[in-house]
Amino acid sequence: MKVTFLGTGTSQGVPVIACNCRVCQSDDSRDKRLRSSIMIEINNKTLVIDAGPDFRQQMLREKVKNVDAILFTHEHKDHTAGLDDVRAFNHLKQMPMDVYAEERVQQSLMREFAYIFAEKKYPGIPQIKFFTINSEPFRIDNIEIIPIRLMHYQLPILGFRIGDFTYLTDTNFISETEKKKIAGSKYITITGLRKEKHLSHFSLGEALQFIDEMKPEHAFITHCSHQLGLHAEVQKELPLNVYLAYDGLVVEL
Ligand SMILES: [Zn+2]
Ligand SMILES: [Zn+2]
Ligand SMILES: [Zn+2]
Repeated sequence: MKVTFLGTGTSQGVPVIACNCRVCQSDDSRDKRLRSSIMIEINNKTLVIDAGPDFRQQMLREKVKNVDAILFTHEHKDHTAGLDDVRAFNHLKQMPMDVYAEERVQQSLMREFAYIFAEKKYPGIPQIKFFTINSEPFRIDNIEIIPIRLMHYQLPILGFRIGDFTYLTDTNFISETEKKKIAGSKYITITGLRKEKHLSHFSLGEALQFIDEMKPEHAFITHCSHQLGLHAEVQKELPLNVYLAYDGLVVEL
């Protein structure tokens, strides 16, 4: 199993438009963060979790030639705005893109991308095929995926566990029941927005507390804001098994 961090930034990305802070002005490529998304290659399948506004750029940067399915964690624009760009894969494979999402997320996509679902379809628009998921485990081919229910302020969203790898973004509350589903993961990726507390995301401190509780072998912090600080500085403050993820980081499991 191979995991590629396609994007590790919060909703505005880093640098933020018109921001002069030292993170946004940094020359370190690890301080350039596209909107959060990961690609998982397993059993000859390529799955992408979330397709935000930078989806096209991420596919180009990683030279991705095939995506078998897109899984959505939730409907926020920084996770869904790139859906139109599945057209390239539609043309390549001459088939719709499989999209796994909860009912509420599907409703939102149908509103936001109404033209995709119009009765009279304009030629060349994206083709997608919905698969409805909830918090129950499901399979894509022979890959078992365990959804993890997360609270993103008041919005119930999903994280995903595939084997030893668990991806949890955009959350500030995980119940004890859901923690049981995460327990035993050797690799955990968790949102760590910034050092100060936030309404809908774990702060770095809260993320570290969660990691300490779950005790994975390796943990990755993602969905980072420019307010978190420079990669080189923040990484030095972290425990040895915790890595500040960056765009393009590849983890082989
Ligand atoms: Zn987000
Ligand atoms: Zn900035
Ligand atoms: Zn969100």
